[in-house]
Amino acid sequence: STAMSQSGEERLVVAVRVRPSTEPNNNKCIQILSDRALLFDDGSKNRPRKYVYDFVFGESSTQEEVYKTTTAPLVKDVLNGLNAAVFAYGATGAGKTHTMLGPNPKKAGTPSSELPPKTAQSNHGDGMMVKALDEIFQHVENAEDSSKFKVTISYLEIYNELIRDLLNPGGPLELREDNRGQKITVAGLSEITTCSRHEVIQNLLKGNKARTMEPTAANKTSSRSHALLSVTVQNKTPLGTKQGRLFLTDLAGSERAKKTKNRGKRLQEGAHINRSLLALGNCINALSGGARYVNYRDSKLTRLLKEALSGKCKTVMIAHVAPEARHRDETKNTLVYADRANHI
Ligand code: ADP
Ligand code: MG
Repeated sequence: STAMSQSGEERLVVAVRVRPSTEPNNNKCIQILSDRALLFDDGSKNRPRKYVYDFVFGESSTQEEVYKTTTAPLVKDVLNGLNAAVFAYGATGAGKTHTMLGPNPKKAGTPSSELPPKTAQSNHGDGMMVKALDEIFQHVENAEDSSKFKVTISYLEIYNELIRDLLNPGGPLELREDNRGQKITVAGLSEITTCSRHEVIQNLLKGNKARTMEPTAANKTSSRSHALLSVTVQNKTPLGTKQGRLFLTDLAGSERAKKTKNRGKRLQEGAHINRSLLALGNCINALSGGARYVNYRDSKLTRLLKEALSGKCKTVMIAHVAPEARHRDETKNTLVYADRANHI
């Protein structure tokens, strides 16, 4: 992408991650060309099209590699008092939750109530949320005076334009704005202030289970909610308090309502989801184009993320795609969304 921050670094980074194929037949619509480019075959007679991004992660990419290139630089910023945001975008089943949280513990045969302690082996599959928290906790632990730091974590979902607390599930919560509409908070949202890795991961896994899942015609379970993890780091220095905030967002599946043959309630969900994703795309486009006016008001998602999207903050979008030819429609939609974010 072309947008630069004041320090001359890119303000918006767009990456594409291809999840491993689950089919033996090797009938794929994607071919990796380099760590920045891929070829997409739309199945027509047209020649495959080349797409270029800031980073392309192939099927064998590791969580460590994705973290180092996308999220670690943002964690450094947040520790220095800046805001930053990471988004996982893509259709249901394309790998968003794997990237953000890690492998499904059930599938891996580990009951979530018995997470292994942190070791070189067991943290291998941890996603961006866990790795970012680890790095932040490590930083606090290594500081000369750890008591000068305060880390505050909240985890919420936006479902049908309603906000729910994922750390303490209950009824919908309201967004509050101060007079000038500058500072936006969620009334009654619970926060945890702990530097215990084990405790936080337990809470994240529990929160993820509390996410609203709706069965649809296209997928058995489809993530129709956006999950937002917010990590605020406060650091009292002799020159004043520095505060940085990191948003890590596992977005709702970007698949279209029409494909899932939804009716009634679920069609409305699709409309809300598309509204949020569209609003987010519009904000990112406007920001990366250096627009003077960016409209955050179109969805709860963008209103909540305003703080992280505006000003000096950096944003990373990790777009997720499946390589199998039968997913080519969704893959194309995602590549185009990410391309739009990358270019304008
Ligand atoms: P989403 O959150 O986008 O709906 P998931 O993260 O749940 O998708 O991924 C769908 C399935 O594919 C899960 O079983 C997940 O463990 C697996 N998967 C996704 N990405 C990867 C990856 N990079 N490596 C290994 N398995 C993956
Ligand atoms: Mg998911």
